[in-house]
Amino acid sequence: MVQVNKYGRRVVNEKMAYSDRARIHGVYDPNRREYPNLLLFMLYDDAVARSDSAHVMRHPIPMPGEDADYVITGDTWEDLAANVDGRLATLAGHVAGTRLDPSFVPNLVATVARFDELARSGVDLDFGRGEAPIGRAWHGPIREGSPNPTMAPFAEAGPYHCIILGAATLDTNGGPVIDAGARVLGVDGTPIPGLYGAGNCIASPAGEGYWGPGATIGLGITFGHLAGLGAAAEPVKPFDL
Ligand SMILES: Cc1cc2nc3c(=O)[nH]c(=O)nc-3n(C[C@H](O)[C@H](O)[C@H](O)COP(=O)(O)OP(=O)(O)OC[C@H]3O[C@@H](n4cnc5c(N)ncnc54)[C@H](O)[C@@H]3O)c2cc1C
Repeated sequence: MVQVNKYGRRVVNEKMAYSDRARIHGVYDPNRREYPNLLLFMLYDDAVARSDSAHVMRHPIPMPGEDADYVITGDTWEDLAANVDGRLATLAGHVAGTRLDPSFVPNLVATVARFDELARSGVDLDFGRGEAPIGRAWHGPIREGSPNPTMAPFAEAGPYHCIILGAATLDTNGGPVIDAGARVLGVDGTPIPGLYGAGNCIASPAGEGYWGPGATIGLGITFGHLAGLGAAAEPVKPFDL
């Protein structure tokens, strides 16, 4: 599997944790005045499509025989590109009018040839795929004989398949800052009396970091609990209608 942009080029280590991988979608190219990776095209061959592995990391590739209209298929790279571009035309209002560039197919052929060469050598000189432990851990069954467990050369003949990928929001990281007791801090850095926060409505205690699955809900529950304890311990205030 590779992920390429509308120019048919790989732009990211596909096996990065999703919170990091997704950032590539937002890269702006000031020369072309566009977001070239707004959509990425996840391409795989029929050996992947026909695999009967139900590994949790299989998603979004459907099981064989499963109906999934988001999978686009073509007998050759040319056919596949035409079908993907046709699908993009029907999605224009949702994909900011993105279409495949005319250079997509020739670039893709070169991209796949390069990827196959790197897969055979076992070293992704371009994006370091398979170097980080998380990339290897979040991976399905290994193709027999692959020196790099996260890479394998593409089948020489189609059919080939594509799933269009766009970025989405998992959680937010901005908002008022809280202290260790979940008290919301004012601009002077001191707690605002009686005001608590947790979860997505505050600046994440993890800052720019994403510590892995559960970090967002875990912090939400932890600081929500602290906020509840703090609020319950507040002195009772007179409530005047
Ligand atoms: C697809 C997906 C997968 C995820 N997987 C994981 C995971 O595996 N592990 C993990 O830790 N995190 C995961 N997250 C992130 C996690 O789910 C969120 O960070 C977390 O649920 C945020 O909780 P929250 O209570 O702060 O906000 P929310 O759950 O967004 O709650 C806010 C609530 O406020 C309500 N609301 C909004 N405006 C108003 C209003 N004006 N008045 C009244 N109510 C209002 C909303 O309807 C909502 O119910 C995932 C998120 C997504 C989208």
